[in-house]
Amino acid sequence: MSSVSPIQIPSRLPLLLTHEGVLLPGSTMRTSVDSARNLQLVRSRLLKGTSLQSTILGVIPNTPDPASDAQDLPPLHRIGTAALAVQVVGSNWPKPHYTLLITGLCRFQIIQVVKEKPYPVAEVEQLDRLEEFPNTCKTREELGELSEQFYKYAVQVIAIRPMRRITHVPGALADEDEDEDNDDIVMLEKKIRTSSMPEQAHKVCVKEIKRLKKMPQSMPEYALTRNYLELMVELPWNKSTTDRLDIRAARVLLDNDHYAMEKLKKRVLEYLAVRQLKNNLKGPILCFVGPPGVGKTSVGRSVAKTLGREFHRIALGGVCDQSDIRGHRRTYVGSMPGRIINGLKTVGVNNPVFLLDEVDKLGKSLQGDPAAALLEVLDPEQNHNFTDHYLNVAFDLSQVLFIATANTTASIPPALLDRMEIIQVPGYTQEEKIEIAHRHLIPKQLEQHGLTPQQIQIPQVTTLDIITRYTREAGVRSLDRKLGAICRAVAVKVAEGQHREAKLDRPDVAEGEGCKEHLLEDGKSDPVSDTTDLALPPEMPILIDFHALKDILGPPMYEMEVSERLSQPGVAIGLAWTPLGGEIMFVEASRMDGEGQLTLTGQLGNVMKESAHLAISWLRSNAKKYHLTNASGSFDLLENTDIHLHFPAGAVTKDGPSAGVTIATCLASLFSGRLVRSDVAMTGEITLRGLVLPVGGIKDKALAAHRAGLKRVIIPQRNEKDLEEIPANVRQDLSFITASCLDEVLNAAFDGGFTVKARPGLLNSKL
Ligand code: ADP
Repeated sequence: MSSVSPIQIPSRLPLLLTHEGVLLPGSTMRTSVDSARNLQLVRSRLLKGTSLQSTILGVIPNTPDPASDAQDLPPLHRIGTAALAVQVVGSNWPKPHYTLLITGLCRFQIIQVVKEKPYPVAEVEQLDRLEEFPNTCKTREELGELSEQFYKYAVQVIAIRPMRRITHVPGALADEDEDEDNDDIVMLEKKIRTSSMPEQAHKVCVKEIKRLKKMPQSMPEYALTRNYLELMVELPWNKSTTDRLDIRAARVLLDNDHYAMEKLKKRVLEYLAVRQLKNNLKGPILCFVGPPGVGKTSVGRSVAKTLGREFHRIALGGVCDQSDIRGHRRTYVGSMPGRIINGLKTVGVNNPVFLLDEVDKLGKSLQGDPAAALLEVLDPEQNHNFTDHYLNVAFDLSQVLFIATANTTASIPPALLDRMEIIQVPGYTQEEKIEIAHRHLIPKQLEQHGLTPQQIQIPQVTTLDIITRYTREAGVRSLDRKLGAICRAVAVKVAEGQHREAKLDRPDVAEGEGCKEHLLEDGKSDPVSDTTDLALPPEMPILIDFHALKDILGPPMYEMEVSERLSQPGVAIGLAWTPLGGEIMFVEASRMDGEGQLTLTGQLGNVMKESAHLAISWLRSNAKKYHLTNASGSFDLLENTDIHLHFPAGAVTKDGPSAGVTIATCLASLFSGRLVRSDVAMTGEITLRGLVLPVGGIKDKALAAHRAGLKRVIIPQRNEKDLEEIPANVRQDLSFITASCLDEVLNAAFDGGFTVKARPGLLNSKL
């Protein structure tokens, strides 16, 4: 080294936030990179960058604050040290982790942070004496001398304290403060010493760190053991939030966040009240069961909020490997902890609310049964000793409050179901959806899109249009998405309007100029230039009427097709219950020449097929009574005749006995040649003798009939008690007819009833 040139650092530096001490000019430090922000910096500046320039970083000491959001940039020290990245070691596997070797160059002062994401970049002013080097160190000889001295001292320092790697950087060595603490292993050891983990875990950690110290860094096991120890010291063994529970406040909060769902809110309050009185968590796990988008997750989140607890959602849909819950053993390559332990690490406390989402969609595979692992997690007798395979020491889960959600109880493993208290969350009526949209969804969407009620107006009729013509769901998830699409479209218009008004100082939008014009206006805008801050309110709100709706969302997806489809004999509407809520379901039948075969299509389960056979048998045995004939006028309905029954919407698997009455009605229509009333839907199981047995899901089914605009609903007599659950306005719009036998069903399903004598003229009608 023959000369020292003045070091000029770039005027803008990417900032590396370290919590491993202060890097001084001239000193070298190894720092571990694991925060998302620093990982991004290393990837884009060091791993991808090629020029020398790009390897100078601004290093700022930073104390992590567990209370602050990891997403936000913490307050920064104003002074930092510019550093040269000398070496990057690490891997992307099993999780991204790098260690950086950096050498301090000179101090700098932050003038302004110019960018925060994905990693901070600041405009900086170089502070240090390095700037003075050109003045003080005038000659090459002097510089040469200096560097020789540096070399001598460096050799001495190395003799005193062996370093794994040495870098030779022009500069001074004088700033080297206690390097020992910077050594990450020492830090880790310190953390283990001060951690409040239980004795057993502590013992394991002490043993592991001893092994780690003896291991060469290049061994793959080194990284594994280090990751393990880092997880162990990070876990919230003893850290918890303090519950604050005020039942009255909880009621207000639940009411404020959620419209309707009274039954669910009531049960949740009871649960919280009991908890308050008993002060322990033993007891059944609450499981909210209902269609998607009815607010199950949202209520779970509110429970956490009322208790002042952290909230974490664990999606179980499709999980079919028990290691997902319980972790992989550490001997296994690529091992990691399960979702429970990971969740605890994420929330950083040991008493969060864990929402086990979609427990009905757990799978099973050769890798073991995740439901069994989950049982262990939920069992209050066992879960204070939950052993994740990766940790291999027990973690106490008894303070975690678990809430589960599911679309249906049918596919929840029975042992798991046994541990849970099921609370049904039915779908919403149209009126409830309108209220939810206007009280909750629209205000949230406006806020998310930076719009105000002065800029956009969505009348209730428009919301109803969205509900009936653009969505078909029991919950409000698609509705929410459609509202989001509208807000996006309006945001563009508002931004364009502001831009134009600001630029051209144009005359105001003419009085009475409808929103339609506003919205349909061809969107040619001025090229975007320096107008970012010109926020002028538009003259009038953009009103979303049906035309605007069509413009934004396209033509309606669901037009009322009911009466059209019922314009021929052999079609009837049933009501089905699916995990996604109630649905109306068309049943179509046709007959043709054949040998008495019955063909069924439309993704049916076995029970449905049985219902079809029952219905045919009943009609054959009652053919004379009702004057039902085949195409050639014979009472033997299957003589020379094949029947094809089809249940459209084949994507949905349908099973269950409740289609019995619909199939019978549809076939009665086919063989009598009469049309089923176009405003009637029905549900009910049948017996061979024509009795109508009760079925489930009456409320959801009634809501579906109401959504579809039907007027009359035929239900089994023994389901009459379920009518109470149906919201008053729906009950008002629908007329319910109860039936205990098929004769009653048919009488209600056809105009003028279905009695024998009424229709002699139709006896031989051909289809
Ligand atoms: P789920 O978990 O049942 O699928 P979510 O909780 O994700 O449904 O709800 C979807 C969206 O609808 C959320 O934004 C939620 O706040 C909103 N939502 C659902 N039901 C209601 C309600 N009764 N009141 C207010 N908002 C609701």
